[in-house]
Amino acid sequence: MRDFNLLIGGQLVAGTATIPVINPATENVLAYAPRASLAQLNDAVAAAKASFAAWSARPLRERGKLLVALADAFAACQDDFARLLTEEQGKPLPHAAGEISHSIDVIRYFSSLDLPLQVIKEDEGQKIVRQHTPLGVVAAITPWNFPMVLLMMKVAPALVAGNTVVIKPAPTTPLTTLRFGELCAEVLPPGVVNVIVDQNDLGEALTSHPDIAKVAFTGSTATGKKVMASAAQTLKRLTLELGGNDAAIVLDDVDPKDVAPKLFAAATMNSGQVCLAIKRLYVHDSIYDEMCEELGKLAETTIVDDGIKQGTQMGPLQNKAQFEKVKGFLDEAKRYGKIVAGGGVLPRKGYFVSPTIVRDIPDDARLVREEQFGPIVPVLRYDDLNDAIARANDSDYGLGCTVWSSDPERALDVARRVEAGVIWINKHLDLPPDIPMGGAKQSGIGAELGQEGLEEFTQAKIINMAK
Ligand code: NAD
Repeated sequence: MRDFNLLIGGQLVAGTATIPVINPATENVLAYAPRASLAQLNDAVAAAKASFAAWSARPLRERGKLLVALADAFAACQDDFARLLTEEQGKPLPHAAGEISHSIDVIRYFSSLDLPLQVIKEDEGQKIVRQHTPLGVVAAITPWNFPMVLLMMKVAPALVAGNTVVIKPAPTTPLTTLRFGELCAEVLPPGVVNVIVDQNDLGEALTSHPDIAKVAFTGSTATGKKVMASAAQTLKRLTLELGGNDAAIVLDDVDPKDVAPKLFAAATMNSGQVCLAIKRLYVHDSIYDEMCEELGKLAETTIVDDGIKQGTQMGPLQNKAQFEKVKGFLDEAKRYGKIVAGGGVLPRKGYFVSPTIVRDIPDDARLVREEQFGPIVPVLRYDDLNDAIARANDSDYGLGCTVWSSDPERALDVARRVEAGVIWINKHLDLPPDIPMGGAKQSGIGAELGQEGLEEFTQAKIINMAK
């Protein structure tokens, strides 16, 4: 078992206690993570604050070069990272490798961006420009479903823009983040990036800390509301990427055999633990039975096993609390809907749930109204497209949506009427680093990725000069 340390002021240090990190495929302890005390959290913020002046004074291009060096160091050990990610998170190794390489791409993308002075208006009497300046210390708080890529979407733009960072991962997946902290210790000046780990007990201290200028948070809507409340005391800047209950609207003009595998993958990737996973499917009456049958076949043939084993297509749920929650959704699915395939947990150690297709379940079932965050897919029938759109929009969430049709005009018309931040047509989860994404309604505030995702880590200043 290897050692892991916090990163505070450039030093790799032990915590004041440890947290056992469980491999969700075996329920064995994978390693012990250091747990930070409140004093260590304050030290991490103080170190980030102390390093801000020098870091923000470096030219942006120089900061970009250091990020390239960080990406190179990351790439040099990406196989180790992928393995560790599978062991702590549960996803199949090829998917973990994909998350790591996407993480490196995100760092490289932000390292190439710029924040030039923009001339907004100029005439004979005046020149008005906009300048983007860094904010100070950023808190980056991440969940356990994509511990690496969601972190890079925060840390890379924050650093390029000239901020310093305190990172806090989820307590069930801290190891890859701590390993990333080791790379930061090698490549970046002390204090620019700090990593602490808690047991879900230091979030409020971090988000209310007077020396934190901005919180970049990904997690559940419930926790996002707490973050917003505690950040209000000092009017911190916020990016909140929160929960979703994304609908897929499948029009009557698609071939179920062709579309079902794409829908199934979009609903069950990462064992359904994806903020932007399809979480409810609205399928036209004319193809409903065939679609349920095709989805059922896919569920029955999915290889569910330890993600480290070759050939595994779906791993376990990430942690015991989520496993228990998903079992509750399974019970409800059996009570109110008809199970087409799956419907149980695997009779073995580990947090394994069979991919499950549920049909004929009412719209007011919890499985349809709430975010299941597990591989259980409710398939709902509709006759009238307007009704399907209204039902899809009848949610406090508004993260993503997908529309499936062989007619681009019809699909675009539906996409324009859906209330969500990201809408895909005939594809899913395409998140290139240069395209911003963010949630509508209670799925979030602000955006990540793209130039917008960089500017979120800056203060826009207007300089209005007389000539
Ligand atoms: P969570 O809200 O329980 O935890 C997220 C992070 O917040 C963890 O690091 C946790 O320790 C920390 N935290 C807990 N209490 C806190 C507090 N009071 N103040 C500050 N931080 C606190 O979420 P989770 O269960 O880890 O992740 C799953 C959720 O994340 C799902 O709802 C999912 O949809 C959402 N998510 C959203 C996106 C997106 O981009 N919109 C991406 C991935 C996951």
